[in-house]
Amino acid sequence: MEPTQHNQTSTAPVRIERVETFLVDLPTIRPHKLSMATMDGQTLMLVRLYCSDGTVGVGEGTTIGGLAYGAESPEGMKLAIDTYFAPQLLGADANHVPAMMAKLNKGIHDNRFAKCAVETALFDALGQRTGLPVSQLLGGRVRDSLPVAWTLASGDTAKDIDEAERMLAARRHKIFKLKIGRRAVDADVAHVAAIKKALGDRGAVRVDVNMAWSELDAQRGLAGLVDAGCELVEQPVASVDALTRLKGRFAIAVMADESLTGPVSAFALARQSGVDVFAIKTEQSGGLRAAQQVAGIADAAGIELYGGTMLEGAIGTIASAHAFATFRELQWGTELFGPLLLTEEILAEPLQYRDFQLAVPTAPGLGIALDEDRVQFFRRDKKQGATVAVVRPAGIAR
Ligand SMILES: [Mg+2]
Repeated sequence: MEPTQHNQTSTAPVRIERVETFLVDLPTIRPHKLSMATMDGQTLMLVRLYCSDGTVGVGEGTTIGGLAYGAESPEGMKLAIDTYFAPQLLGADANHVPAMMAKLNKGIHDNRFAKCAVETALFDALGQRTGLPVSQLLGGRVRDSLPVAWTLASGDTAKDIDEAERMLAARRHKIFKLKIGRRAVDADVAHVAAIKKALGDRGAVRVDVNMAWSELDAQRGLAGLVDAGCELVEQPVASVDALTRLKGRFAIAVMADESLTGPVSAFALARQSGVDVFAIKTEQSGGLRAAQQVAGIADAAGIELYGGTMLEGAIGTIASAHAFATFRELQWGTELFGPLLLTEEILAEPLQYRDFQLAVPTAPGLGIALDEDRVQFFRRDKKQGATVAVVRPAGIAR
């Protein structure tokens, strides 16, 4: 068969010539209250890899609540990439993504979020080079769109019900995840019950406790959540052993999130049959291919899947969408709503959310284009004066 132009270009070495990183601060549509922090904005760490064939790949690193969620922050990712990743990336062949990631994994311990951003940029550039969407580079998609849950986290029951009604009316979301764990268990359960009662069969209700409960709290809480009509509880406790003990005790699915830190932890959880569902996050897993490995472990263990979010902006969200589109099973849908929590659009064409689903783009690479003026406008290093505090610890009033 006559080789195509794309095939020829994809086998010739393409060098990474420049690595650019910067921070973008974007406000949220409302305070987003989690058990460990309140977010008034989100910071995206963007990395761009400029390649010798003219392709430029982009990747994104975000966290939930600065350093409130884990050991990496957007500022720390930028520092790590500038100082430690860039020397390994510069001059390397951009075509061999798994080899590049193996090299980075050998020389750089952990830093999973930063690795995910870099791997995303490599795949984006490779996709543009070959004319293929990232989902195809990852083996091929099983679905072209993904169900998207919405998180209700205003902290106020009536406001949350109004927000859910608006989402249902707009046909944007019909699965709702409630952030709980800040208040007493009984108050939280009453909040969940009131929302589920208001929505009835029109909306599914799940909760995320973000590890805030003790095992005893969880035993009381899960019993109450079952009565409230809640179908799933995400990371009620911090301890993996306690999660394992809770699974199967109540008629509610138990999902791991914070306990999942990539394929090794996924394997350990699967081996002790610790949970019903994995919330897979690409950043938490250490990259798009690592997320696929976590999904493979879940499949083998009979654990169901949910596509989680680190509240990424549009770039990280669509990178995750490409990966989740390749999962054989995705029984619980996704929560890839990150860009919808932000007031500002940084893409030339917004992502397509409609009929309760997010469309996975078909154009080469990530299949998105940045609005460069908007991106430059929100760059932290281009702003005058002090940076905006976008995160408050839990318990600090506005
Ligand atoms: Mg969670």
